[in-house]
Amino acid sequence: MSAVLESGCADTKVIPILKERGQREVFCGLTGIIWLHRKIQDAFFLVVGSRTCAHLIQSAAGVMIFAEPRFATAIIDERDLAGLADANDELDHVVRRLLERRPDIKLLFLVGSCPSEVIKLDLSRAAQRLSSQFNPGVRVLNYSGSGIETTFTQGEDACLASLVPTLPAAQVEAAPSLMIVGTLADVVEDQWTRLFTEMGIHNVSYFPPRRSTELPSIGANTRYLLAQPFLADTARVLEERGAQRLPAPFPLGVEGTTAWLKAAADMFGVSAEKFDAVTMPKRERAMRALQHQRPQLEGKRIFFFPDSQLEIPIARFLSRELGMQLTEVGTPFLHKQHLAEEMAMMPAGIQISEGQHVENQIDRCRAVKPDLVVCGLGLANPLEAEGMTTKWAIELVFTPIQGYDQAADLAELFARPLNRRMRLVA
Ligand code: SF4
Repeated sequence: MSAVLESGCADTKVIPILKERGQREVFCGLTGIIWLHRKIQDAFFLVVGSRTCAHLIQSAAGVMIFAEPRFATAIIDERDLAGLADANDELDHVVRRLLERRPDIKLLFLVGSCPSEVIKLDLSRAAQRLSSQFNPGVRVLNYSGSGIETTFTQGEDACLASLVPTLPAAQVEAAPSLMIVGTLADVVEDQWTRLFTEMGIHNVSYFPPRRSTELPSIGANTRYLLAQPFLADTARVLEERGAQRLPAPFPLGVEGTTAWLKAAADMFGVSAEKFDAVTMPKRERAMRALQHQRPQLEGKRIFFFPDSQLEIPIARFLSRELGMQLTEVGTPFLHKQHLAEEMAMMPAGIQISEGQHVENQIDRCRAVKPDLVVCGLGLANPLEAEGMTTKWAIELVFTPIQGYDQAADLAELFARPLNRRMRLVA
């Protein structure tokens, strides 16, 4: 275990960052399959893993029982250790059977996991081998959802990063285009497309797209906005392809959404008058909706365990737009460039921690006695048993929370457990 105190500079404020290394309490990157398979509608996610991985995926995504599933687990167990050649043959056989049975699959992800027998398999070679076999109908890619090094949202980052090399190259003389990066609910994308269109920004794409056959092109004239704060690797490979990030806070709450849209508006030469004319009615309506939530949240003290990597933008929203008091904001990673605008908006004097030493953090949480704790599923039950009120961080990636129309829904996610606790106590 180690803990280091570092300073993060946000404008003129200096925010101390407690860096911790120790035992962690998080889900693995396989979890991302649950929202990624809903988004990319012709993709299939084949986890190459153990029975534990199969169990995680089945229980976490059990809702899909009535649909033709678009994820499965190829179980590599002790039996397969007799020879890697056998394991590769077995994998090829599973993929062939799957693709024969499911001609709707156009993109197949082989998703690595952390059991030692899987780590020995070279999934990138397997993906290349299978891709050349099933080309041009099906593209096979691979990424790791292993729990050894990841937080659960890094599964999406690894998946999208694996997809970037397949994006078609934009023409050198192509007009500037805007790419929104990060998995979003379709409803959110549709709202933003309408707003961009009203502002006169037409060349907008979303990555990942709804179908793998609609991959956006990329080049030096691509400007991108991150819609999720956990996409460090994806951003890096997008930039290697020439795209440039538009610095902005994340589109959570009215303030974050406005600044995020403004970054695009400024880049594409939209006048301040036009921007206000398009966004003001939405901003006002969202602010009115937030006023209904404010009495339940204002002054309440909130503590974040590091889990989703959404902690800092959400803490900024809850503090600035709803008057919540931040006791500690833990995040698994703090990407200084991607979060610079967020850090500049954080209230002075708050405690931010990066990484995790779960025992130490539980001690700090108990000491400050917050009204609400945001944490992973594994911590929620024990903390509830101690009388704390908790919110599962994973809900933040399953629920549409970005943009104006969702700002009140985001606030409601935090108001609900407080209301439930009040009813239990009453
Ligand atoms: S990838 Fe690792 S952490 Fe995730 S379910 Fe499989 S064994 Fe567990």
